[in-house]
Amino acid sequence: MKKTKDRYDYIICGGGASGLILASRICDDDYFKNKSVLLIEKDIKNTNDRTWCFWEEGKGEYDDIVFHSWKNGKFQGKNFELNFSFNPYVYKMIKSKDFYSFMQKKLKSYTQLKQVQEKIIKINPNLNQVKTDKNTYKSVKIFSSIYSPKQIQNQTKFPVLIQHFFGCIVETKNNCFEKKKIDFMNFNVSQKNETRFVYVLPESNKRALVEYTLFSKTLLPEKEYLEEIKKYLNSINTGGYKILEKEKGQIPMTCFRFDNYNTEDLLHIGTAGGWTKASTGYTFSRINEKTKALINHLKKEKPLNRFNQTNRFWFYDLIFLDVLYNQNYLGSNLFKKMFEKNDPKTIFKFLDDKSNFWEELKIISSFALSENLGAFLSAFFKRVFKIN
Ligand SMILES: Cc1cc2nc3c(=O)[nH]c(=O)nc-3n(C[C@H](O)[C@H](O)[C@H](O)COP(=O)(O)OP(=O)(O)OC[C@H]3O[C@@H](n4cnc5c(N)ncnc54)[C@H](O)[C@@H]3O)c2cc1C
Repeated sequence: MKKTKDRYDYIICGGGASGLILASRICDDDYFKNKSVLLIEKDIKNTNDRTWCFWEEGKGEYDDIVFHSWKNGKFQGKNFELNFSFNPYVYKMIKSKDFYSFMQKKLKSYTQLKQVQEKIIKINPNLNQVKTDKNTYKSVKIFSSIYSPKQIQNQTKFPVLIQHFFGCIVETKNNCFEKKKIDFMNFNVSQKNETRFVYVLPESNKRALVEYTLFSKTLLPEKEYLEEIKKYLNSINTGGYKILEKEKGQIPMTCFRFDNYNTEDLLHIGTAGGWTKASTGYTFSRINEKTKALINHLKKEKPLNRFNQTNRFWFYDLIFLDVLYNQNYLGSNLFKKMFEKNDPKTIFKFLDDKSNFWEELKIISSFALSENLGAFLSAFFKRVFKIN
């Protein structure tokens, strides 16, 4: 039997990264102390379903649960290696299990927040209504982090790549990892006409998360990722190794206008809201920033569809993805050019959408004004003049 209609000021659909962070920001702020909040999540979030990494300057909100952090990194491309310091950033790793329990501890102290474990069946923004398998709820404003891949698959206006990866935590006999340094991107693996690299996050000289990652159109059979990880491990003098844990995932890389599906009272958040950086897949720190901006937006009582509009970084990503979608084999060369010609500090600032115009011009010209010029000019003119 369906019960009806609890009414709330805010309903948050999905209690993953963006839902939990948004719920805590609302409840932490005195401005919203009289607002009722409902958080609906279908799963019990108590497993380590993902590992989040991000770079951050100085102290951060989640430092208490940072599992590991690094100050140095390495980029490797064809005939090119760059060892760099992340300074002024630190590269941090959080395990999702620790994050969920940290957030739950916080959320339990908020009396204005109710959490239910139910599966959402339908969100109806016209009726300000959320239907679950057990109830129907009404709300003044609805935030949804429920991502539907169909939405982006059923269109051709924006290219869609997938960042897909398979990672293994391995323990080796020999000291073969540099414990204080991550392999940010190692393109010295067979590219097979795509964009493929290895990403290594060492916990010690003998233990690391080794991920085989692609930015490409289609997923691989599971055994192929594992074979590639084994190939990589055989190339680095491990002396033998054990695989302790496995993790796989996929993140959409697209400039699709998720924000066009927002209404005055419904806002899509997280990956479902287009908060994932299209050219890299990084999302976690963007969720932190966007939820802060959203709190300010809510205080101004403006319609939700006025939040989150596109900017010049969206356009840069669009051109980059157009090129990478049409000529996926260019990826290793594009990233190599970027690291060859620019200070990593500026690159990370650029990838955070915080660089200035001159810094952007330098970075873009480093990979666009090269043998890749034709591909960029063609993508640029097609977008500007809407050819095709
Ligand atoms: C394996 C993996 C590793 C990643 N690593 C990184 C990283 O290192 N750095 C980085 O910046 N980003 C990373 N990302 C990308 C991004 O940060 C994460 O996907 C992040 O969890 C996105 O947050 P979100 O709130 O949008 O989605 P989620 O965290 O997935 O939250 C959505 C929630 O909605 C719930 N839900 C879905 N459907 C329903 C329904 N019908 N009813 C009720 N609840 C529902 C889900 O159970 C889930 O809890 C990674 C992604 C994956 C998949």
